[in-house]
Amino acid sequence: MIIMMGGPGTGKGTFSRLLHNVCPQYSHIETGALLRAQPDGSPIRLAIAGGNLVSNELVCDLISKTISQTHGDIILDGFPRTLSQAQWLVNNYATKYNIHVIYLNVSDEIMIDRINKRRTEGSTRKDDANLDTVKHRLETFHNITMPAIGWLGSEPDNIKFSDIDSSEQESKNFARILSALQIPTQNA
Ligand code: ADP
Repeated sequence: MIIMMGGPGTGKGTFSRLLHNVCPQYSHIETGALLRAQPDGSPIRLAIAGGNLVSNELVCDLISKTISQTHGDIILDGFPRTLSQAQWLVNNYATKYNIHVIYLNVSDEIMIDRINKRRTEGSTRKDDANLDTVKHRLETFHNITMPAIGWLGSEPDNIKFSDIDSSEQESKNFARILSALQIPTQNA
Protein backbone atom coordinates (compact mmCIF):
# COMPACT_ATOMS: atom_id res chain seq x y z
CA MET A 1 0.00 0.00 0.00
CA ILE A 2 1.48 3.32 -1.13
CA ILE A 3 0.36 6.27 0.99
CA MET A 4 0.68 9.76 -0.53
CA MET A 5 0.93 12.50 2.09
CA GLY A 6 1.66 16.21 1.96
CA GLY A 7 0.06 19.62 2.35
CA PRO A 8 -2.54 21.16 0.07
CA GLY A 9 -1.24 21.68 -3.44
CA THR A 10 1.80 19.40 -3.02
CA GLY A 11 0.70 17.17 -5.88
CA LYS A 12 -0.72 14.15 -4.01
CA GLY A 13 -3.46 13.78 -6.64
CA THR A 14 -1.20 14.41 -9.63
CA PHE A 15 1.53 11.99 -8.50
CA SER A 16 -1.01 9.35 -7.47
CA ARG A 17 -2.50 9.46 -10.97
CA LEU A 18 0.95 9.28 -12.60
CA LEU A 19 1.82 6.36 -10.32
CA HIS A 20 -1.43 4.66 -11.20
CA ASN A 21 -0.50 4.93 -14.91
CA VAL A 22 2.77 3.14 -14.12
CA CYS A 23 1.13 0.58 -11.81
CA PRO A 24 -2.40 0.17 -13.26
CA GLN A 25 -2.94 -2.99 -11.18
CA TYR A 26 -3.09 -0.83 -8.03
CA SER A 27 -6.47 0.50 -6.86
CA HIS A 28 -6.32 4.28 -6.51
CA ILE A 29 -8.26 5.69 -3.54
CA GLU A 30 -8.52 9.47 -3.71
CA THR A 31 -9.82 10.61 -0.31
CA GLY A 32 -10.64 14.24 -1.29
CA ALA A 33 -12.61 13.10 -4.37
CA LEU A 34 -14.48 10.44 -2.33
CA LEU A 35 -15.45 13.12 0.20
CA ARG A 36 -16.39 15.66 -2.50
CA ALA A 37 -18.70 13.02 -4.02
CA GLN A 38 -20.92 13.18 -0.90
CA PRO A 39 -24.22 15.08 -1.27
CA ASP A 40 -24.13 18.88 -1.56
CA GLY A 41 -24.96 20.49 1.81
CA SER A 42 -23.98 17.36 3.81
CA PRO A 43 -21.75 17.86 6.90
CA ILE A 44 -18.82 16.45 4.92
CA ARG A 45 -19.25 18.91 2.03
CA LEU A 46 -19.72 21.86 4.42
CA ALA A 47 -16.51 20.97 6.30
CA ILE A 48 -14.54 20.78 3.05
CA ALA A 49 -15.88 24.08 1.67
CA GLY A 50 -14.76 25.84 4.88
CA GLY A 51 -11.26 24.34 4.59
CA ASN A 52 -11.84 22.17 7.68
CA LEU A 53 -10.99 18.51 8.05
CA VAL A 54 -13.82 16.00 7.99
CA SER A 55 -14.18 14.07 11.29
CA ASN A 56 -11.88 11.09 11.83
CA GLU A 57 -14.82 8.76 12.38
CA LEU A 58 -16.53 9.60 9.07
CA VAL A 59 -13.29 9.44 7.09
CA CYS A 60 -12.04 6.16 8.67
CA ASP A 61 -15.44 4.61 8.03
CA LEU A 62 -15.40 5.65 4.36
CA ILE A 63 -11.79 4.49 3.90
CA SER A 64 -12.37 1.08 5.51
CA LYS A 65 -15.45 0.49 3.32
CA THR A 66 -13.54 1.53 0.22
CA ILE A 67 -10.50 -0.64 1.06
CA SER A 68 -12.75 -3.63 1.67
CA GLN A 69 -14.03 -3.30 -1.92
CA THR A 70 -10.51 -3.53 -3.42
CA HIS A 71 -8.30 -6.52 -4.19
CA GLY A 72 -4.51 -6.33 -4.13
CA ASP A 73 -2.31 -3.28 -3.93
CA ILE A 74 -3.56 0.23 -3.22
CA ILE A 75 -2.46 3.83 -3.78
CA LEU A 76 -4.03 5.80 -0.93
CA ASP A 77 -4.04 9.52 -1.57
CA GLY A 78 -4.96 12.11 1.11
CA PHE A 79 -5.28 9.66 4.00
CA PRO A 80 -4.20 9.70 6.81
CA ARG A 81 -4.30 13.38 7.62
CA THR A 82 -4.40 13.30 11.44
CA LEU A 83 -2.41 11.41 14.08
CA SER A 84 -5.42 9.34 15.04
CA GLN A 85 -6.08 8.40 11.38
CA ALA A 86 -2.38 7.43 11.05
CA GLN A 87 -2.51 5.23 14.17
CA TRP A 88 -5.81 3.67 13.03
CA LEU A 89 -4.28 2.87 9.63
CA VAL A 90 -1.13 1.27 11.07
CA ASN A 91 -3.10 -0.69 13.71
CA ASN A 92 -5.58 -2.05 11.17
CA TYR A 93 -3.58 -2.47 7.98
CA ALA A 94 0.18 -2.78 8.62
CA THR A 95 -0.04 -6.54 9.01
CA LYS A 96 -2.19 -7.01 5.88
CA TYR A 97 -0.19 -4.68 3.60
CA ASN A 98 3.42 -3.55 3.15
CA ILE A 99 2.87 0.14 3.82
CA HIS A 100 5.19 2.72 2.22
CA VAL A 101 4.50 6.38 3.07
CA ILE A 102 5.60 8.98 0.50
CA TYR A 103 5.74 12.41 2.13
CA LEU A 104 5.76 15.18 -0.50
CA ASN A 105 7.84 17.82 1.25
CA VAL A 106 7.53 21.41 -0.08
CA SER A 107 7.58 24.91 1.41
CA ASP A 108 4.44 26.92 2.19
CA GLU A 109 5.35 29.38 -0.60
CA ILE A 110 5.29 26.60 -3.18
CA MET A 111 1.99 25.20 -1.84
CA ILE A 112 0.36 28.65 -2.12
CA ASP A 113 1.81 29.21 -5.63
CA ARG A 114 0.51 25.84 -6.80
CA ILE A 115 -2.99 26.45 -5.41
CA ASN A 116 -3.04 29.89 -7.09
CA LYS A 117 -2.01 28.25 -10.34
CA ARG A 118 -4.79 25.66 -9.94
CA ARG A 119 -7.26 28.52 -9.48
CA THR A 120 -6.08 30.50 -12.51
CA GLU A 121 -6.26 27.29 -14.54
CA GLY A 122 -9.98 27.07 -13.72
CA SER A 123 -10.34 25.07 -10.46
CA THR A 124 -13.94 25.28 -9.32
CA ARG A 125 -13.10 24.02 -5.83
CA LYS A 126 -14.65 26.27 -3.19
CA ASP A 127 -11.70 25.62 -0.86
CA ASP A 128 -9.25 26.97 -3.49
CA ALA A 129 -11.23 30.14 -4.17
CA ASN A 130 -10.66 32.10 -0.97
CA LEU A 131 -7.18 33.06 0.27
CA ASP A 132 -8.24 32.84 3.95
CA THR A 133 -9.50 29.29 3.40
CA VAL A 134 -6.23 28.37 1.72
CA LYS A 135 -4.26 29.82 4.68
CA HIS A 136 -6.50 27.90 7.08
CA ARG A 137 -5.78 24.65 5.20
CA LEU A 138 -2.05 25.36 5.50
CA GLU A 139 -2.36 25.96 9.26
CA THR A 140 -4.34 22.75 9.59
CA PHE A 141 -1.60 20.95 7.68
CA HIS A 142 1.11 22.22 10.06
CA ASN A 143 -0.87 21.77 13.28
CA ILE A 144 -2.70 18.52 12.58
CA THR A 145 -1.18 16.65 9.63
CA MET A 146 2.53 17.26 10.36
CA PRO A 147 2.31 15.44 13.74
CA ALA A 148 0.86 12.44 11.86
CA ILE A 149 3.71 12.60 9.32
CA GLY A 150 6.26 12.95 12.15
CA TRP A 151 4.83 9.92 13.93
CA LEU A 152 4.74 7.78 10.77
CA GLY A 153 8.36 8.74 10.01
CA SER A 154 9.68 7.80 13.42
CA GLU A 155 7.46 5.42 15.37
CA PRO A 156 6.08 2.37 13.56
CA ASP A 157 8.85 -0.12 12.73
CA ASN A 158 6.63 -2.15 10.39
CA ILE A 159 6.21 0.48 7.64
CA LYS A 160 8.53 2.30 5.19
CA PHE A 161 8.70 6.09 5.08
CA SER A 162 10.29 8.34 2.43
CA ASP A 163 10.66 12.11 2.78
CA ILE A 164 10.68 13.38 -0.83
CA ASP A 165 11.82 16.90 -1.69
CA SER A 166 9.03 17.79 -4.12
CA SER A 167 10.00 21.36 -4.92
CA GLU A 168 11.38 20.75 -8.42
CA GLN A 169 9.51 20.39 -11.68
CA GLU A 170 6.98 17.57 -11.91
CA SER A 171 9.09 15.05 -13.86
CA LYS A 172 12.02 15.37 -11.44
CA ASN A 173 9.78 15.00 -8.38
CA PHE A 174 8.10 11.97 -9.94
CA ALA A 175 11.48 10.37 -10.69
CA ARG A 176 12.35 10.76 -6.97
CA ILE A 177 9.08 9.07 -5.99
CA LEU A 178 9.70 6.14 -8.37
CA SER A 179 13.23 5.78 -7.04
CA ALA A 180 12.02 5.72 -3.40
CA LEU A 181 9.47 3.05 -4.35
CA GLN A 182 12.15 1.15 -6.31
CA ILE A 183 10.03 1.25 -9.48
CA PRO A 184 12.26 1.34 -12.60
CA THR A 185 11.91 4.67 -14.51
CA GLN A 186 11.54 2.88 -17.86
CA ASN A 187 8.06 1.85 -16.69
CA ALA A 188 7.06 5.53 -16.40
P1 ADP B 1 -5.85 19.27 -0.77
O1 ADP B 1 -4.81 18.32 -0.32
O2 ADP B 1 -5.43 20.16 -1.90
O3 ADP B 1 -6.47 20.04 0.35
P2 ADP B 1 -7.74 17.04 -1.02
O4 ADP B 1 -8.60 16.73 -2.21
O5 ADP B 1 -6.77 16.00 -0.59
O6 ADP B 1 -7.03 18.41 -1.41
O7 ADP B 1 -8.67 17.39 0.25
C1 ADP B 1 -9.67 18.37 0.16
C2 ADP B 1 -10.39 18.48 1.51
O8 ADP B 1 -11.03 17.24 1.83
C3 ADP B 1 -9.52 18.80 2.71
O9 ADP B 1 -9.26 20.18 2.87
C4 ADP B 1 -10.40 18.26 3.85
O10 ADP B 1 -11.47 19.15 4.12
C5 ADP B 1 -10.99 17.01 3.25
N1 ADP B 1 -10.15 15.82 3.51
C6 ADP B 1 -9.38 15.15 2.58
N2 ADP B 1 -8.75 14.10 3.16
C7 ADP B 1 -9.12 14.11 4.47
C8 ADP B 1 -8.80 13.27 5.60
N3 ADP B 1 -7.96 12.22 5.50
N4 ADP B 1 -9.37 13.59 6.81
C9 ADP B 1 -10.21 14.64 6.93
N5 ADP B 1 -10.55 15.46 5.92
C10 ADP B 1 -10.03 15.20 4.70
